[in-house]
Amino acid sequence: MPENCINLQFIANLYLANSHRTKGSRSPVNQNFCMNMQKFTKAPQTPRAVNYSCKALYAGPISLHTEYMSKQHFSVGQTAQIDDSLIEGLVLPRFMNYVRIGTTSCRHLTETPSSPGQWDLAKALETELRDLGLSEVELTNHCYVIARVPASPGRENAPVIGFLAHLDTASDVPGDNVKPCLVRNYNGERIELCSGYVLDPLEDADLAAQKGKDIVHTDGSTLLGADDKAGIAEIAGAIEYLLTHPELNHGPLEIVFSPDEETGKGLPEFPLNSIRSAACYTLDGGPLGELEVECFNAWKADVTFQGKVIHVGHARGILANAALMAASFAVMLPRSESPEATDGYYGYYCPMEIKGDLEQADLEVYIRDFDRKGAERRVHALNVFAEAVETQFPGGKVVVEAKAQYYNMKEKIDEHPEVFEKLTMAAANLGIAYRQKPIRGGTDGSRLTEMGIPTPNIFTGGRNYHSRLEWVSVSEMISACKLVIELIRLWGEV
Ligand SMILES: [Zn+2]
Repeated sequence: MPENCINLQFIANLYLANSHRTKGSRSPVNQNFCMNMQKFTKAPQTPRAVNYSCKALYAGPISLHTEYMSKQHFSVGQTAQIDDSLIEGLVLPRFMNYVRIGTTSCRHLTETPSSPGQWDLAKALETELRDLGLSEVELTNHCYVIARVPASPGRENAPVIGFLAHLDTASDVPGDNVKPCLVRNYNGERIELCSGYVLDPLEDADLAAQKGKDIVHTDGSTLLGADDKAGIAEIAGAIEYLLTHPELNHGPLEIVFSPDEETGKGLPEFPLNSIRSAACYTLDGGPLGELEVECFNAWKADVTFQGKVIHVGHARGILANAALMAASFAVMLPRSESPEATDGYYGYYCPMEIKGDLEQADLEVYIRDFDRKGAERRVHALNVFAEAVETQFPGGKVVVEAKAQYYNMKEKIDEHPEVFEKLTMAAANLGIAYRQKPIRGGTDGSRLTEMGIPTPNIFTGGRNYHSRLEWVSVSEMISACKLVIELIRLWGEV
């Protein structure tokens, strides 16, 4: 672990303990938190390392602040001028706190949520949002946190705008006992993690570009969970900013933190009937400036292989080995159309899991393509491969059950051009060089768009998701939070 790596486990514990504060006790509790940070944080390389949270968290009773600030009004360009250290104080401590709550989801379970840790985070967020002074906060019986921020006086007729992020983390690598490491003023060198894992700027140009800035990475034993706790922290930070800066007029807002995004199983339980948003934005993207309105058309196929079994000593001409049938099927999937051989707009097949024995085997295959016809072509191909395997293994049977998971959201978002226009306008107002990028995956936003609510996706500042090499840029988290604030301001203009 590098010299300047600060393990904030203890500090995060303090913050967590303090997060159960009662309404109205903000200042003293936060003061303790900040003092504790000064006491237990290793000597920082920049003075702001210990001071950053003071301004935001010492904001004092909201009513006093309101009286002072209500004389001012937000205008174009003003969001860009918000002090970065103030936003950092709203986002970074939250992020360090959230990632320590293990929320790995389980794709083999059908219930929502699929893991108890998601309840822990959802309950903590419910408490936190209530403590911020929001009265409409709901935790549904499927672990969706829904909160509403009332419009500023006179802005009640502005459209309701929603912001979404997901509670769970991927199960590809361990996600419990995350020990986030905050690096101030990154020196641009290799960062050695535990178990031989290395963050190497020579292999990661984005990391190299963070030299002189602040990042948070893992200790190498787990993922970080910036996907999507960076998104949650950025949204919650923006809401705290709004509530403490009533001079920023806005329309009605809706916040949704959802379970089981990574498994793709959460959305059937999405409380669509109680959602009022005309448009939503997910905070679930990657590097600064990436805005996403296109995603894959996604299908999942469960392929079952039924063998014909007999004692292997007498098997000649009789045995149809189901394990071998599944393996034969898997190698028929074109290697040139695999995730590791494609990028950009190319689609793929990906065998996700294979298991079985002589009698029965099961193979799960993901199909992804930006073009709907391209995805349907691959589904058809699976049936052709199934016939080929049956021909190779007389007596064996192959059944393909393919189900659409979500569709490319671009078509539906294009029907509401103002949703993306507002997003690019907000980015431009902040001087963020944005670019539109296709998501090689899906988000809750893709599925929500299908349900009729256009939902583009916004960067969060994280990299190397679903891996032990995951890290997040603190300055990009600040930019994402400011982008949310500016979007809210733009939608509130009436
Ligand atoms: Zn995500």
